[in-house]
Amino acid sequence: MREQRLPEGLRPETLAVRAGTVRSQFNEHAEAMFLTSSFVFGSAAEAAARFSGAEPGPIYARFTNPTVSMFEERLAALEGAERCVAFSSGMAAILATVMGLMKAGEHVVASRSIFGSTVQLFTSILGRFGVETSFVSPTDPEEWRRAVKPNTRLFFVESPSNPLTEVSDIRALADIAHAHGAWLAVDNCFCSPILQRPLELGADIVIHSATKYLDGQGRVLGGAVLGNKTLMEGVYTFLRTAGPTLSAFNAWVLLKGLETLGIRMAAHSRHALELAEWLSAHPKVTRVLYPGLPSHPQHELAMRQQASGGGIVAFEVVGGKAGAWQVIDATRLMSITANLGDTRTTITHPASTTHSRMTPEQRAAAGIGDGLIRVAVGLEHPDDLKADLARGLSGL
Ligand SMILES: *Cc1c(COP(=O)(O)O)cnc(C)c1O
Repeated sequence: MREQRLPEGLRPETLAVRAGTVRSQFNEHAEAMFLTSSFVFGSAAEAAARFSGAEPGPIYARFTNPTVSMFEERLAALEGAERCVAFSSGMAAILATVMGLMKAGEHVVASRSIFGSTVQLFTSILGRFGVETSFVSPTDPEEWRRAVKPNTRLFFVESPSNPLTEVSDIRALADIAHAHGAWLAVDNCFCSPILQRPLELGADIVIHSATKYLDGQGRVLGGAVLGNKTLMEGVYTFLRTAGPTLSAFNAWVLLKGLETLGIRMAAHSRHALELAEWLSAHPKVTRVLYPGLPSHPQHELAMRQQASGGGIVAFEVVGGKAGAWQVIDATRLMSITANLGDTRTTITHPASTTHSRMTPEQRAAAGIGDGLIRVAVGLEHPDDLKADLARGLSGL
């Protein structure tokens, strides 16, 4: 295997194309896909040296595969992390973070506005194993400080949040966590390292659902955890032992996805801003939430810690649930699905899908109204997307 020697100081767009590539003796240009479950040793002594860690090299694909390693190296370069550990999905990555770094009797402080399955993981599953979680406001760092207990080990946040695009002050949360001996983990799914690098803002751990923007074309599931070598050793030990492994095939697809991440994220943001501005001026739209709009409650913070607003736009229409459903059902281009981060624009009604397990009172408290629609803006022409929404909006 031959490692390339890249120059120092490369920009994210370049790293997304070039970082992490290792070539075999055939000198292939595209990364090779190593579809093998195990690796052969030249001698008993070599096998022993590999197993003891005295000699680097692949052993068994549950925890070492060259294609997966190339994906890990590339993402680590993009996030500015010492080490990345890849997983079979974003949820497996979140589980591994807790299982690798925490123990029963310890406590998590988490944003109230996080992915639904993450809430379930913290409450229904990790709670049974003695890890307790307190949920607090994503936008009020003082609530985080007040929620800290002597046994708090982890802060967990997503920014911007889903579906309301609330923006959390990553540096402020990192300072509070560190003052109390806890780590800050940021689920960076909505921004990707092209728009936001939480480690540079003081976070200790970055988590990805690679299923979303990193793949970017809705093809495979994957996940990743990134941070310093000491923290990642614990996360890696969980992977090696428990086996929620990213497949070589999925890693290869994700490597191809990363190559276009720079141009995709720029286009997602550009199209989303254009759509958000158009929606803001529409008489049937009562509220638009997009971090790139000056009207967004945390616009200045978002523009400080993100390169641009990202691809997610939420808006409220007149007529409540009936109005929202009418707009969604009148689309002919957008896909009615809860997924996001795809080249194809997706449209969702959070109150009756992703957030339907909440009571109406909980939804009202969280600001998720019945007229709220979330659009994950894809790469279609923005004028075609406006026309797709105008069809339903004009009938309200
Ligand atoms: C989708 C998603 C996850 C879970 O990722 P999977 O790859 O589906 O397991 C976690 N966090 C956020 C913010 C997500 O959007």
